[in-house]
Amino acid sequence: MIIAIFFIAHWYLSLFGQTFFLHRYSAHKMFTMSKNWEKFWYIFAWVTQGSSYLNARAYAILHRMHHAYSDTEKDPHTPHFFKEVFSMMMHTRDIYNGVLHGTIEVEDKFERNYPVYPAVDKIADAWLTRLAFAFGYIFFYMAFATQWWMYLLLPIHFLMGPVHGAIVNWAGHKYGYRNFNENDQSQNTLVFDFLMFGELFQNNHHHAGSKPNFAAKWWEIDPVYPIIVVFDKIGILKLMR
Ligand SMILES: [Zn+2]
Ligand SMILES: [Zn+2]
Repeated sequence: MIIAIFFIAHWYLSLFGQTFFLHRYSAHKMFTMSKNWEKFWYIFAWVTQGSSYLNARAYAILHRMHHAYSDTEKDPHTPHFFKEVFSMMMHTRDIYNGVLHGTIEVEDKFERNYPVYPAVDKIADAWLTRLAFAFGYIFFYMAFATQWWMYLLLPIHFLMGPVHGAIVNWAGHKYGYRNFNENDQSQNTLVFDFLMFGELFQNNHHHAGSKPNFAAKWWEIDPVYPIIVVFDKIGILKLMR
């Protein structure tokens, strides 16, 4: 029971950091927030991703490339040039590292307007920090796991960010239905996307990239959008109007 709660909490908190902060804010600027809130969510995204921390600048740049070159050879993670998801993720990792370490040239149009906190990155991106998080997960399981097979969930904790990325980037451009005739292979995979917090409405999102609600039809549910509306009302952020 405790392990189930820990797993679900890690899954959704990390996913929230990704979809709310990295995707909708850092990459798309669907809303604005104060510097203090930005710092808070930056650290939130780090702590919830833990061992699989993703840098906001590199995320934003890769994601803007994904929108600009969706499902072409210049897309950092299209499933349509790979036989299975693992090789796609390896390809994405190489581009991510290239952007992060400056060994890949980034087009000027992508290189702006994202949060940068080098002091946080220095700690968050260090191997020692990643290992500390990984050991934290292991110790938690040692303390609370009641069955041996529960330990099989540990690799998902270690790679939480890439696991989410693999599901969204693979399934979201391969399986589902389309509301809009976009110039790519984007799909809406689920009708009520409680699994990936709205990220699986890829077709809706590619159609209207700056719209904070990933649901487009009245019967679709993006569970993160109502949270954004509440955050707007209580002053955590300002939605673009
Ligand atoms: Zn997409
Ligand atoms: Zn996007």
